Amino acid sequence: MHLGSSKRGPVSRDRETWCPRRGAIGFPEMKAGRAPIFDEADKDAEVDISVVIPVYNEEQNLGPLYAELGTVLLDLGLDYEIIFVDDGSVDGSYDAMCQLHAEDAAVKAIRFRRNFGQTAAFAAGFDYARGRVVATLDADGQNDPADIPRLLAKMEEGDYDIVTGWRVDRRESLARRLVSKLANALISRTTRISIHDRGCSLKVFRADVVKNMHLYGQLHRFLPELASAIGVRVAELPVNDRKRKFGKSKYGALSRTPRVILDLITVAFVLGFFASPMRLFGSIALISGSLGLLTGGGLVLAKLYSGLVGGWAGFRAYQIGDRPLLLFSVLLITLSVNFLMMGLLGEMIMRTYYEVQNKPTYSIRKVLE
Ligand code: UDP
Ligand code: MG
Repeated sequence: MHLGSSKRGPVSRDRETWCPRRGAIGFPEMKAGRAPIFDEADKDAEVDISVVIPVYNEEQNLGPLYAELGTVLLDLGLDYEIIFVDDGSVDGSYDAMCQLHAEDAAVKAIRFRRNFGQTAAFAAGFDYARGRVVATLDADGQNDPADIPRLLAKMEEGDYDIVTGWRVDRRESLARRLVSKLANALISRTTRISIHDRGCSLKVFRADVVKNMHLYGQLHRFLPELASAIGVRVAELPVNDRKRKFGKSKYGALSRTPRVILDLITVAFVLGFFASPMRLFGSIALISGSLGLLTGGGLVLAKLYSGLVGGWAGFRAYQIGDRPLLLFSVLLITLSVNFLMMGLLGEMIMRTYYEVQNKPTYSIRKVLE
């Protein structure tokens, strides 16, 4: 095992405390039947762990990563598969995968027709994964495979569904670290799930958690949030961050920010209101409708009052037809009807979503029979 490698960051100094004893998570009962950390997904699982790796032009990184990963996984004594997902690479990445596949049957390669993005690559890997546990990491060597045993140990120890890596000591430019810190703080506030580092690809999941997830856009960053919709237990663990070995980053310092913000809005909506869109749209409708009625009603009352005081002449003299407030009131009432309709449509779509797919509106963790 690569425990003594000189490239470790400060996080790894306490590796011995974190790292389980060799063989400690060898899951001895796994071969015989059920392993302690695997529940619902056990039935169909064919290997202990599937490692999913998105690859976009990482030709030179694949060999070294495979070697590191192989050592770690063999050392754990687990049945494993390594799924490389070629996200439309235009270099020799796919050939490199084919070669690894030819040499080791545990290596699987999925090749996209074009570049669909990292999220899609994860999604494909999840769909194909046959492991009881699914681990993810980047292909560029920035994540350290030697952290996987600790993540698994944490998962087993705390009965977690997801254990996500936190790059405490990041080897990135200051600008990127700042943007990432801000984004993570904002997302934690919005979704009320406090995780320090959503950009870290190194994570382990129970298979049933990722198998039930629909991913698009940049949503791979929000896996713990999306999973929280079904009520999962998430833990975070400091992991090693390393410099990219070959090639360069596929994202600029800021280029993904707008997409992440839009995805955040989606996630916040999905988490808060997906099952009852009427709660969101209906509340807006109620607020805007009541404001509209109040302002409009106020104007009408004022006109009536001037009629009471000044008689018919006073009533006619008090003009409300050209008051901006009237326009405002009409606008608010119209808006409120619109939002109400949106809420109703949302409810219908949501019902279709659950009923057409025969999806349960709940998620079971365990049944004792
Ligand atoms: N990646 C991908 N499709 C893309 C962009 C990136 O599969 O469209 C992969 C890339 O090969 C790497 C991982 O996603 O394995 C993370 O990308 P990168 O290292 O460029 O991101 P950074 O570490 O700079 O955030
Ligand atoms: Mg990287």
